[in-house]
Amino acid sequence: MKKLLLISTGGTISCSDTVQGLSPKLTFDELLDKVPYNSNEILIDGIQLMSIDSGNIIPEHWLDITSQIKQKYDQYDGFLVTHGTDTLAYTSAALSYLIQHSRKPIVVTGSQRPIDMEGTDAVINLSQSIRVACENIGGVFVVFNNKVIHGTQARKIKTKGDDAFISLNRPDAAQFKNDKLLFNQQFLDEYKRDSQLLCFYDQLNTSVHVIKLFPGLNTKAFLYMLSIYDAVVIEAYGTGSIPFVFGDAIEGFQNQNKDECLIVVVSQAMYEGTNMKLYEISNKVRNYPNVVEGGLMSTESAVTKLMWALSNSKTIESAIEKVKTPIAYDF
Ligand code: ASP
Repeated sequence: MKKLLLISTGGTISCSDTVQGLSPKLTFDELLDKVPYNSNEILIDGIQLMSIDSGNIIPEHWLDITSQIKQKYDQYDGFLVTHGTDTLAYTSAALSYLIQHSRKPIVVTGSQRPIDMEGTDAVINLSQSIRVACENIGGVFVVFNNKVIHGTQARKIKTKGDDAFISLNRPDAAQFKNDKLLFNQQFLDEYKRDSQLLCFYDQLNTSVHVIKLFPGLNTKAFLYMLSIYDAVVIEAYGTGSIPFVFGDAIEGFQNQNKDECLIVVVSQAMYEGTNMKLYEISNKVRNYPNVVEGGLMSTESAVTKLMWALSNSKTIESAIEKVKTPIAYDF
């Protein structure tokens, strides 16, 4: 008998129609009532942790989810988190840093249409999530529309279509094909090699900001962000291009300020990551102290990894080291 814990947080999957629009009203037991699974083989307990639109998710909620999983880790074989799709990729990335080296599956899922609606994708997503949560595999995954995506690599790309999530720069950890769950061999090999111990974290430093570059971005506003945050993710162009004016601004800021700001550069392009060595426009910046080239990291991963790294480091150097170390398939 497999024992799973479903942590329900709200989102479209549990929405009902109200005069104000869709609102998350259904509880975990109402979700489970709609999903066929063999209750002789699988026991699913639930917690209604919150009932919110995921647009209202804040980092404390990630700590709450983590705390529930930590408290009940030994009692269950796998964990399911039902969640709105809008910020689901941030939550899956955050959980990947807050719960490292899990040998049990932690599956985050949701749907594009409420579970009660005709033609809903909720039943299939939840059924597939239950199947993945019963596997003898560990880590944080997003299960959505036949895909099992590493928690650090998920990105919502559609507002309506069932195939709302993709894996950015890693193959899916597994896929459902004709009802068969097929794992990626490279993932299985890496998973087998991982001998590090399960580790839960319970703090996040939320002094993190994202600056998306665009032609015409105000330099003063850019510098102001560096001055008030502990870390900034720069969504740069293409391979990590940063206009000279901002490169100079970073250099000037670092020379003049005692306050330190850790900068991670990721790409606005969805696939293939950064290569800041390639162009003169970014080559110098990548060597500035406190600047980390994001490589294949997504914005969602960079933001949440910085929150985790900053809160678990005494010095900026140690935070930089943590950010540069690949975790949960994020580089
Ligand atoms: N606004 C909803 C949410 O993120 C969208 C969804 O779940 O698909 O909670």
